[in-house]
Amino acid sequence: MTDRETTLEYFDIIVVGGGMVGSALACATAEAGFNVCVLEMREPQQNWPKDEVDLRVSALTRASQCVLENLGVWEQMQALRISPYTDMEVWDAGGSGRIHFSAAELGEVNLGHIVENRVTQLTLWQRLESLQGVTLRCPARVTQLLLDDKPGVILDDGTHLQARLIVAADGRDSQIREMAGIGTKGWDYDQHAIVATITPQQHHGYTARQRFMKTGPLAFLPIDDGRCSIVWSTSPQEAEALMAMDDKAFSHALTLASDHMLGEIDAVGPRGVFPLRLGHAEIYIRPGLALIGDAAHAIHPLAGQGVNLGFLDAATLAETVIDAKSIGRPIGAFATLRRYERTRKGANMGMLAAMDAFKRTFSNEIPPLQMIRNLGLTLADRSGPLKHLMVRRAMGLSGELPDLARHRPVGN
Ligand SMILES: Cc1cc2nc3c(=O)[nH]c(=O)nc-3n(C[C@H](O)[C@H](O)[C@H](O)COP(=O)(O)OP(=O)(O)OC[C@H]3O[C@@H](n4cnc5c(N)ncnc54)[C@H](O)[C@@H]3O)c2cc1C
Repeated sequence: MTDRETTLEYFDIIVVGGGMVGSALACATAEAGFNVCVLEMREPQQNWPKDEVDLRVSALTRASQCVLENLGVWEQMQALRISPYTDMEVWDAGGSGRIHFSAAELGEVNLGHIVENRVTQLTLWQRLESLQGVTLRCPARVTQLLLDDKPGVILDDGTHLQARLIVAADGRDSQIREMAGIGTKGWDYDQHAIVATITPQQHHGYTARQRFMKTGPLAFLPIDDGRCSIVWSTSPQEAEALMAMDDKAFSHALTLASDHMLGEIDAVGPRGVFPLRLGHAEIYIRPGLALIGDAAHAIHPLAGQGVNLGFLDAATLAETVIDAKSIGRPIGAFATLRRYERTRKGANMGMLAAMDAFKRTFSNEIPPLQMIRNLGLTLADRSGPLKHLMVRRAMGLSGELPDLARHRPVGN
C-alpha cells in the first residue's frame, strides 16, 4: 500500500478558499447532497461594532441577491446591514456627458444593494456550519495539489484529502491556479483604489455616483445610514500622496475630486488601498479541477462586477455538477466541466474587455475621444429602450443566467 492509498479523508468536492464565492459554491453543492470540504486560511470576522462599516463593500446585483436568497442567507444579511440604492449617476469630469439610471423608470424597487463583504461572507459561513455534509477546515493551507486519476490536496499539517472535484476559489493570487500550472493574461491597470467610509454634508438620496477623471473613477456608494463607501481609483503616486494625508486634508481633496457632488466631506474613517490588476485565467478547468471567482478573473472595480461574476460562476458550476450527478456522469470529468467553462469564460471575458475599454476611454484626454465619450454618455442617457436593456443586463435581470440566479425575490 502506498502513502497515497492511506488517504485520511475523501470528499465529493474540495473548495479551496471560503470567501464569498467559494462559500456560495459549497452551500449550493452541499444542499444538493454532495459531501463538501472547505479549506480556508482565515476565520471570517464574527462580530464588529454596529455602526462600523467595513472598508470592503460590494454592489450586489439582483442576480447575486437571487443566489443569496436561494442559498438562504439573504434574510440574515438584511439583519446585519444591506443598503439598497435606487439610482445611479455616472458622469465625465472632462465634459458634460452624464447618464442617470433609476429603478423607478424600470418599475423596480431598487437597482441593487451595497453590502459589506464580511456580511456576505459571515452569513454564508454560518449557513455552511449548519449544513449536513460540510466539513470546514480553518485555518488550513494547501502545500501540494495532486491532479491525476485521484485528485487531492496535501495540507501543511500533512493531511491528505481526496475528492472527485477540487475547486479553486482562493482569490486573485490563487495558489491553486499556480500549482495547476494555469497561466493568466492581464496587466496592471497602473491604478490603486483607495477605499474608506465617509460622511458627506448632504444625504446621498440612495444614489450611487461615479465621476470619471483622467486619473480614474471616483465612486460614492450609499450606505443606509447616510454615509458613503468610496472607491477612489487613481495613479499609484496620487494614491500614495492621498494615503499620507491627515483626515482633514484627505476630506478636502475628496470634496474637490467629487466636484462637491454631496457638498463638503464632513468626516472620513480609516482608509485602505488596493492595487488594481486585470487578470484572466487562460483556462478555467482541468480534469478534477475548476477555477471560480477572482481565481479565474480579476476585474477593475469601476462597474462593481467582480463578485457578481463570481456568484454566477458558483451557480453555474453547481448546476453543472448537480446535473452530471443526476445522470450518473463523473463530476470531475473534463467533458462535464467543459459546460461550466464554455458558459462562464466567454461571459466573463466580455465583461473584462468591456470594463477595460471603458477604463481606457475615460482615462484618455485626446479631445476627439473626450467629445465622443461625452456624446456617447448623453446619447445613451436619452436612448430609452437601449438604456433599459443596458441597466437590466448590469443588474442581472436579463441574459443567460443559471437557475440559482433566476428566482425572482418577493418584496425588495
Ligand atoms: C476596491 C475594490 C472594490 C470592489 N467593489 C466591488 C463591487 O462593488 N462589486 C463587485 O461585484 N465586486 C467588487 N470588487 C471585487 C470583489 O471584491 C472580488 O471580486 C471578490 O472579493 C472575489 O471573491 P472571491 O471569493 O472569488 O475571492 P476573495 O474575496 O479573494 O476570497 C478568497 C478566499 O480564499 C482564501 N484563501 C486564499 N488563498 C488560500 C489558500 N491558499 N488556502 C486557503 N484559503 C485561501 C482567502 O482567505 C479568502 O477568504 C471590488 C474589489 C476591489 C479591490
